[in-house]
Amino acid sequence: MGLKLFNTLTRSVEEFVPRDPQGKKAGMYCCGPTIHNFAHIGNFRTFVFADLLRRYLEFKGYEVQHVMNITDVEDKIIAGVRGSGLALPEFTHRYETAFFEDFAALGCLSPHQTPHATEHIPQIIALTEKLVAQGFAYQTADGSVYFSIQAYRDRGRHYGQLLNLNFEAMRVGERVSADEYDKESVADFALWKARVPEDGSVYWPSPWGEGRPGWHIECSAMSMKLLGPSFDLHLGGEDLIFPHHEDEIAQSEGAGLQQPGERFVKYWLHVAHLLVEGNKMSKSLGNFFTLRDLLAKGFSGREIRYVLISAAYRSSFNFTLENLTGARTALARLDECLSKLRVLAAYKTSEADSRLLAEFSAAMDDDLNVSGAWGCIFNWVRETNKLLAANQVSALQAAAGLAAWQRIENVLGISERAKTEVPTEFLTLLEQRQAARKAKDYKRADAIRQELKAAGWVIEDTPQGPRLKRI
Ligand code: AMP
Ligand code: ZN
Repeated sequence: MGLKLFNTLTRSVEEFVPRDPQGKKAGMYCCGPTIHNFAHIGNFRTFVFADLLRRYLEFKGYEVQHVMNITDVEDKIIAGVRGSGLALPEFTHRYETAFFEDFAALGCLSPHQTPHATEHIPQIIALTEKLVAQGFAYQTADGSVYFSIQAYRDRGRHYGQLLNLNFEAMRVGERVSADEYDKESVADFALWKARVPEDGSVYWPSPWGEGRPGWHIECSAMSMKLLGPSFDLHLGGEDLIFPHHEDEIAQSEGAGLQQPGERFVKYWLHVAHLLVEGNKMSKSLGNFFTLRDLLAKGFSGREIRYVLISAAYRSSFNFTLENLTGARTALARLDECLSKLRVLAAYKTSEADSRLLAEFSAAMDDDLNVSGAWGCIFNWVRETNKLLAANQVSALQAAAGLAAWQRIENVLGISERAKTEVPTEFLTLLEQRQAARKAKDYKRADAIRQELKAAGWVIEDTPQGPRLKRI
């Protein structure tokens, strides 16, 4: 069955068909963090979803190119730099390092590329020049460059593709210089912002004088450079639909780099906001959590990831500390079942349990219905536990369940190598020792036992055969 996704562009659920004529490659861009502070768990809901989608596309056999940009220059960053007294790179470096630590703690795979806006100033300038040349952008007296919505619409182009806009309320030529604004203030937006004293030392030379890029053009320039002028998937939190993504479409399609009939992006996916204890996260309400805050409370990255991927991405999700406690219980149930299966399978291998995989992928194909997928997994855990209790699971069946779980785990990304889990190299040694004993090569068997002991593992004999235990 094919994967179906809700496309904000068409406001409908569509079958995912990549642009690649071979149907193999899929290009995916997710708007990355603005590194002016520690990312909060709401931000991570979006990034973990992007990671989940990438992993699921890989599960389906696609060759994914996952790009996540790093916004390292925009209004909030300039304000932060000013307040800190640091130079831009020192200021952003700290938050970028913290971001990637948190990202890894949540089990996210590194995107294939993580471009930085400050490393793409030439591409941003070139794209702005193209928009000026096309007549869609104009320079103002201070040396800034704005995108003209009127000029764009006058040429029959559609501004307002991702949401409906009220152009009656718009006054022609009105401009907005801030990176963030709401849909009531739809206006010409800044592509290039002329240098002002508040920018301090953050500026670059350009054909329009010294200045810095607007936020929206950064993503157009970086995504098209790395994925081409047309690509498959563009993701972000729902707050980015307007103006950020609408502006990205206008800039990228306005520059006219796409082949005739091609769009900038085929599928736009947006993650609904995470609420905490029923409210929008805010420092004054005391419900604002960074990942670090939760780790300091003793929760693990794995538990937090489990909670973040427990609900469908298009519904807003209410995060509570009780959710995390629930995650601990659920994961312990799962781990216990898996470890019993491991003992039973005793290193046998098998084809994956096709029923479990089919149920899991049917749920995930439905616009990444993770709650349905978890439902299948816990049904399987319940049934397996029953069979285990009745001694009705053979080694081969255990191995088949584990093989299916391994594939599912590669998508969900919630594995955590428990301290008691044995590294494969030692399992191989254990097998070699068994083989040596069978061949009556006791000298070799003993040497392996010593080697394992030196590495901190003892061999324990169980009714299911020998096992390794940490000393
Ligand atoms: P920022 O670092 O502010 O640019 O945000 C990074 C990503 O997090 C963007 O895709 C935002 O849309 C997303 N985001 C911000 N707040 C939330 C939230 N409460 N829930 C889910 N995603 C969010
Ligand atoms: Zn972006």
